[in-house]
Amino acid sequence: MSGEELIRREVIENFTFPGKLVEEILYGSGHINDTFRLAFETEQGRKRYILQRMNKSIFHKPVELMENIVGVTSWLRKKILANGGDADRETLNIVLARDGRPYYLDSAGDYWRAYLFIEGASCYDKVEKREDFYQSAVAFGHFQGLLADYPAKTLHETIMNFHNTASRLDDFKAAVLRDTCGYAGDVQREIRFVLEREHLAYVLGEMQAEKKLPLRVTHNDTKLNNIMIDDKTGKAICVIDLDTVMPGLAVNDFGDSIRFGASTGDEDERDLAKVSCDMELFELYTKGFVEGCAGSLTDEELDMLPIGAMVMTYECGMRFLADHLDGDVYFKTHREGHNLDRCRTQFKLVADMEKKLSAMNAIVDKYRQRER
Ligand code: ADP
Ligand code: MG
Ligand code: MG
Repeated sequence: MSGEELIRREVIENFTFPGKLVEEILYGSGHINDTFRLAFETEQGRKRYILQRMNKSIFHKPVELMENIVGVTSWLRKKILANGGDADRETLNIVLARDGRPYYLDSAGDYWRAYLFIEGASCYDKVEKREDFYQSAVAFGHFQGLLADYPAKTLHETIMNFHNTASRLDDFKAAVLRDTCGYAGDVQREIRFVLEREHLAYVLGEMQAEKKLPLRVTHNDTKLNNIMIDDKTGKAICVIDLDTVMPGLAVNDFGDSIRFGASTGDEDERDLAKVSCDMELFELYTKGFVEGCAGSLTDEELDMLPIGAMVMTYECGMRFLADHLDGDVYFKTHREGHNLDRCRTQFKLVADMEKKLSAMNAIVDKYRQRER
């Protein structure tokens, strides 16, 4: 047996799996954790599980991270059961380690966790039909709705200031001053774009401080492949990948989804004529998200959805630009100027959203009326 296999033996023996291990395969197409699918033969038949080695270079607080997941999944389980749902499929369910903890620390220093395998459902990597985007909106809205009364402040901030746009702006300004690679002179236009919109960096934080926006449980990785779609009905049944669950604002999840999902171009498209905010996709996501939230969003939260999309896009563009100035130390790049290209698509989107703001507001109003 290889060292890697020996470690997995050790790990599997230290979780409370039932019966005899009959299958063990590397699974899924996640980019962050190492995911395995296990099957055990038990007296009640074959049972499958997901086993994951958590990415320690990204997640520095695995114990707190798992505490967040325990809190959120046990809450979801109770709500789903109370609504008469199938709690084994509609939320992740943690399998405990033999010592009763929700994770196992192996002898090589890696943290592992295990979940029930969600049967009869699939994850999709790419939005192929518009319906997929709508399904992900319903799923993330529903997630937000079920957790609307969760005490969000009890969650750990596992990545500090993740969507604190004001602190991202400070980081950005520091990168401009450092000008590590001497690029600042060449990107004056982009720098000005950020500075002319500083209000966007503060608007959400100020509303939060004034208690106009409540602290919520946010997912923070609202990609299509982080929801499971039922193979029979084609409907989203479960939100997975809860590593980045943190306290935040409802508009963070909504805004980030619009940022990457409603753009007509790729995130690193060089032909900016191809980049704009697709209003049909914006409407579809808004419809799904508002329906999924089922009346749990406040009026101010609904009002701020379009601005939230703009802020998330602005923040992301500013991070790409800061990384470009720093010499591409954070985001992986595949060509010269890659982060600058990414920054430009984000700013193009922000500028486009500014033009479309009243149309976006009208869409939010349309679905707000339906939910009331
Ligand atoms: P990553 O952070 O690496 O994206 P994920 O938690 O999203 O890790 O898991 C990777 C993939 O494993 C998912 O996209 C999905 O296909 C599969 N997966 C994860 N959890 C489950 C589960 N409980 N049931 C079935 N499949 C799962
Ligand atoms: Mg994932
Ligand atoms: Mg992930």
